[in-house]
Amino acid sequence: MTALLAMLLAAPLEVRVLEREVPVRVHLEAARITCDGKPLGKSVDAEASVRDVKVGEARCTEVIAGDEVLVTVKDTRRTYPGRVHVSLEGGLLRLLNVVDVEAYLPSVVSAEADGGKSAALEAQAIVSRTFAVTAQRRHGKHGYELCDLAHCQVYRGKGEASPEAEAAVKKTANQVLLIGGIVLKPAFFHSSCGGHTSSAMDVFGEDGAGTAVSDVENGAPRCAGPELKWQFEVEKKDLATALSVAPTGNALESLRRDSGGRVLEVRSFGKRFTGQQFISLVGRKFGWRSVRSLKFSTSETDTTLRLEGSGTGHGAGLCQQGAKSLAERGVDARGILLRYFPESQLKPRP
Ligand SMILES: [Zn+2]
Ligand SMILES: [Zn+2]
Repeated sequence: MTALLAMLLAAPLEVRVLEREVPVRVHLEAARITCDGKPLGKSVDAEASVRDVKVGEARCTEVIAGDEVLVTVKDTRRTYPGRVHVSLEGGLLRLLNVVDVEAYLPSVVSAEADGGKSAALEAQAIVSRTFAVTAQRRHGKHGYELCDLAHCQVYRGKGEASPEAEAAVKKTANQVLLIGGIVLKPAFFHSSCGGHTSSAMDVFGEDGAGTAVSDVENGAPRCAGPELKWQFEVEKKDLATALSVAPTGNALESLRRDSGGRVLEVRSFGKRFTGQQFISLVGRKFGWRSVRSLKFSTSETDTTLRLEGSGTGHGAGLCQQGAKSLAERGVDARGILLRYFPESQLKPRP
């Protein structure tokens, strides 16, 4: 395990970047830029053409820029540590940032957890590092490991990271969560658990670090705050449209819940959905802030359905708001992680 872990921590990550920008043409600036191994200038425009990537007169299967690359796509300018590989995919440019784990993390910690005390940022750095080094299969069939969106972890390259996030990554360098001090599994995080987390198995059907734990202290969730409670009211017929079913029968019944109180399975207008199917169909139609978690109760009138929920996010692993509140009370990163990943240990030790 130690050798394997050292290998995982040393291996660069492959992060698909700027896919949302639908890049047809990018501007690259770097100390070294090559077209299928042949040197180009230090500042080039690469463009998708029918069969390859066009850079001036050159036709390239792959353009590689590094180390540290300024990438401009439309109005978006990002600086990426490591190398950026540009190739053609479905008429567009595919940008892959090949980056060291420790260079990738500051932007992630900054985007995912800024504003907290240093212990909360350090806990986030360790969870995000564990997530990243176990992410090999997240986009494996498309030939990379991570995307730069919330699906994996939000990543915007260098430059966007706060000094606090940089410091948290440095202080926890190479530390990951290991179950029982031995086994490496993906570690997840979410915004607020509403008083109880869920296991990754219940949430994603995937083995991960962290069991379902209570996040209540003195009778109140640690993640208490303006974000804790939410309501969502919807016309039943609109909900039926979102779920592609006929609006007859009960609008929503929860059939099964996990130990964290999250809905695992619902029946809506006579059709069964997993909790994840339900939240993703509803999110697509009414926005991702409509139903913020699967921890909700329902009430119906003749025409409307009302959901009252608590917490935001999937509920597996680290509760970020809870971590923030623990950090504010002086709990260190190790103490925070022990609450949400009680069976895990930090490795390697600092
Ligand atoms: Zn992803
Ligand atoms: Zn919580």
